Amino acid sequence: MKLSVDQLKEAPEAFRYPVERDWWAEHFADVEASGAQLVGEPEIRLAARVAAENVHIEGDLEGILDAECARCAKRYRHALQDSFQLVLAPLDEEVGPSDEEGRAALERSGMCLGEDLESGWYRGGEIDLGDFLTEVVSLSIPIQPLCRDDCPGLCPICGIDRTEKNCICEEETKPASPFAALAVLKEKREGSS
Ligand SMILES: [Zn+2]
Ligand SMILES: [Zn+2]
Repeated sequence: MKLSVDQLKEAPEAFRYPVERDWWAEHFADVEASGAQLVGEPEIRLAARVAAENVHIEGDLEGILDAECARCAKRYRHALQDSFQLVLAPLDEEVGPSDEEGRAALERSGMCLGEDLESGWYRGGEIDLGDFLTEVVSLSIPIQPLCRDDCPGLCPICGIDRTEKNCICEEETKPASPFAALAVLKEKREGSS
């Protein structure tokens, strides 16, 4: 996921970075382990240009994840979608990153991020966007995958899929107040003594 900074012009140039299987498996092993799988090959598209020595990058990610809904356990297709913007300034030793991590990133990729994901520094004629794009992809992965925002899920009592059918469990098992539970306990004690 390299970008030749020294060949950029003032007019934006388009680039495409397919999210390859190997790269995905290497960086998102935990997502795969959770049972979610990529459908096809997601793609990151971006436009890059240079203005007053600053590198401006704008792009988006599009892909599909076959995931399991955290509430109803059905498999569904989750759209991986995100757009991003990044402005990289040429490294200025005086204001550049002072932290180890930032320096290591500059060493490794020719770029590093500032305090947010939208700005940072670069140096040299070529940068590796890999770390940044990994971050972009990871932000698009749902922490709690839901087949739809209001998925009612499975009934915790009878296990029925509430998207398809209703059950009466809910009425019978209204969460009792702790006082009610105490009352039952007390009743039992009194009964047994
Ligand atoms: Zn669901
Ligand atoms: Zn039920």
